[in-house]
Amino acid sequence: MSATAVKPRQDVAAVAPPEASLLVRAPIAGWAVALDEVPDPVFSGRILGDGIAIDPFEPVLRAPCDGVVTTLHSAHHALTLRTSEGAEILVHIGLDTVTLKGEGFQPHVAEGQAVHVGDPLITFDMGFLAEHVRSLLAPVIVANPDAFVIVSRTVGQEVRSGDTVLALRPAQPKPAKTPAAADGHQARRDVVERAPDGIHARPAGLIAETVRNYRAEVRLQARGRTVSARGAVGVMGLGVRGGDTVTILGAGEDAEAAVEAVAALLQGETPSTSDAEGRPVSQAEAPAAQAQAAAPKEALADFRPGAEVVLRGVAAAPGAAVGTAARMQQAAFDLSETGAGSAAESERLTQALSKAEAGLRAALDEAAGKPGPAHAILSAHLAFLQDPELRDRAQALVGAGKTAARAWHDAIEEQVVVLRGLGDARMAERADDLRDVEERVLAALAGRSEAARTLPEGAVLVAEDLLPSQVAGLAAGRIAGICTAGGGPTSHVAILAASMGIPALMAVGPDVLRVPDGAPVILDADAGVLRVFPPKETAEARRSAIATARARAEADLAAAHEDCRTADGVRIEVVANLGGVADVAGALAHGAEGSGLLRSEFLFLDRAAAPTEDEQAAEYQAIATALGGRPLIVRTLDAGADKALPYLNMPAEANPELGVRGIRLCLARPELLRAQLRAILKVQPAGQCRIMLPMVADLAELREARAMLEEEKAKLGRADAVQLGIMVEVPSAAMMAEVLAAEADFFSVGTNDLTQYVLAMDRLNPALARHMDALHPAVLRLIARTVEGARAHGRWVGVCGGLASVALAAPVLIGLGVTELSATAAAIPRIKAFVRRLDMAACAKAAQAALAQTSAEAVRAMLTRTWPSE
Ligand code: PEP
Ligand code: MG
Repeated sequence: MSATAVKPRQDVAAVAPPEASLLVRAPIAGWAVALDEVPDPVFSGRILGDGIAIDPFEPVLRAPCDGVVTTLHSAHHALTLRTSEGAEILVHIGLDTVTLKGEGFQPHVAEGQAVHVGDPLITFDMGFLAEHVRSLLAPVIVANPDAFVIVSRTVGQEVRSGDTVLALRPAQPKPAKTPAAADGHQARRDVVERAPDGIHARPAGLIAETVRNYRAEVRLQARGRTVSARGAVGVMGLGVRGGDTVTILGAGEDAEAAVEAVAALLQGETPSTSDAEGRPVSQAEAPAAQAQAAAPKEALADFRPGAEVVLRGVAAAPGAAVGTAARMQQAAFDLSETGAGSAAESERLTQALSKAEAGLRAALDEAAGKPGPAHAILSAHLAFLQDPELRDRAQALVGAGKTAARAWHDAIEEQVVVLRGLGDARMAERADDLRDVEERVLAALAGRSEAARTLPEGAVLVAEDLLPSQVAGLAAGRIAGICTAGGGPTSHVAILAASMGIPALMAVGPDVLRVPDGAPVILDADAGVLRVFPPKETAEARRSAIATARARAEADLAAAHEDCRTADGVRIEVVANLGGVADVAGALAHGAEGSGLLRSEFLFLDRAAAPTEDEQAAEYQAIATALGGRPLIVRTLDAGADKALPYLNMPAEANPELGVRGIRLCLARPELLRAQLRAILKVQPAGQCRIMLPMVADLAELREARAMLEEEKAKLGRADAVQLGIMVEVPSAAMMAEVLAAEADFFSVGTNDLTQYVLAMDRLNPALARHMDALHPAVLRLIARTVEGARAHGRWVGVCGGLASVALAAPVLIGLGVTELSATAAAIPRIKAFVRRLDMAACAKAAQAALAQTSAEAVRAMLTRTWPSE
């Protein structure tokens, strides 16, 4: 849910039910959500208790009620208060924040301290957390739900700190599963806690939940204290850390089984759960346990020679590499608060800004004229560095007494928080660019040079996160691959790596940071895995396969400039997706025969106002000219959802992906569409450009846009036919293809959005990235239907979504009747070479076989069996 969406706020305090005897206030301002929306089964499954969660807008957590701090976790990310009525209120900042080991958190209270509602409890660094953990959602939990019942709760709206979010009343005492009196059965085990973060909220919840499935009384002893294992809060309050010995004591008829189950949890084994009668069942039988198993594991992977460990991540740049791990540490800078006095610090800042600017300009000169996105990214950095507001803010902080380094850091941090708070993944990833600019200036202040880091030949760079400049500064050809704990596939780092031909795997999680320096690894970005200490023979086989693939890629590129036909002579156009004129040279160098998708929205992003008609006409003309007369399909503005344009001031939406985006937005703002249509119509030679509408869901949208096109043509005195096609990326368009084909000149299937909408999976959600596979038979069936509808009216169908760049998918798409593939430039040589080896009979067979499969994996397996070398 977007944190920016605002519904009218309701003051729950005013409507707390009369039976409520205890009110729990929002400990932080933010967006309140139901626990079901927390992507962690321990919270959404109510294992720690019931409550709500808040997506915070501010960095200070305050007391939600009067009470005593009974536990403050050693990682300072969670604490529990006990009220005088006996309610235990757990507040937990973010998910997986225990892994930060206290970094980014500043507690203001200690265990045993009495606090009043509204007192500050913990301050945290939102920017740092947002960079290092998967969610900032802060659950507010009644941790003894047997003792208190929630009679009302506030969710689905913005709350201020201090607003009532939960109203409680004491529960009727109930004779629930009480522990059996000790009957002589006793069990005891001493185990060493293996998870480095110890027993924090999640394991404590799992232990309590597990123990409740047994009749035995189970207690845990550690750090000189003993608590009942039935209460998650008590267990958490033991403060067990990785390496501590925990004694598990059981008493009762099933004491042994209960003690074993807890021991297994502490040792990081598969958590078991219980059936309806409370009997433990195996994981294979238990969906809830599977969900838990899918959550990030906290047991340490054991890295040692001879024992392969496979880490999984998200493919961010394609390819594979065999090499050795080389750790790259982020630079540490002195960020002391006070220094040499305002005047001197101000002068230091000014000089460092100039030095950083000179460095950036030199890098820009070096990138000028080279294909790839480096120049555009560095230009954006220069704009950040020159931003007068950012500079003024930093100088103001210096004026207030801070050091130059601290002031620059804080000024950047404020902007990072704003970007991350927009609830827009792309904007959040732009925060990395700000950090990059931050580091340039801090390096200048520290007197460090920006010399490229020296890394061993064939290194697979392992880092927590990388900055775009760090990637741009890597010697291409020397670095075999990149693997980061954080990051995402749409970051500038991913785009740069792809453009430099460096395979990259991201979002692998903190385990990757423990891979020993120099460990042999296979980075298989395409398969989304890093194999650490692989068997020697596997590494050798992989190395030779990669060398063969490289030789083949060179041969493919040499033949990429020929037209593309199947072995039996059917013409398939292989064209490129473009974002702007800077992409054209690279596309042509890879053999593009034109462009099947110009994402015109890139011209509209990252600016204060929409580009004028003349600016647009100049850009489209430059692209058409650079393409040398080859066909160009300009997609009209596809803004909204992940490509928000703040200057349009569109109302916030709860579900932007299903909101006013693409053609819907253009029809709501017809002046935008009309200006764009006129700009495209002005491109010479007339006829080189076709126009394509994004996100069409309905015939009426096509008709309305066509009417506008005809009106604008008339105004410009154009009487010739201008091709107007549509993207097929909304399931309704595929289902209604025959109706739409009567009036659309062509179709181009946007498999990225089509897959998102058919599978109901957010395309930007890294947790779903592995399941977002456009080879899913459901997507393929819709493409088949699209082609069928198009053929009924003699229209052609292309594909411009990501699937067009997957060589293995080409026989299926061609077999379904697709005649144009618009791919990323780098994929074109291989696609052309493969298509030339295919004949239509083989393609038709592959398409029919794919449609009959039951899953995307089955489709991929079938294709790999048929074309093992693809
Ligand atoms: C698509 O959805 O497949 C597509 C090509 O459009 P975009 O990725 O720009 O949304
Ligand atoms: Mg799309």
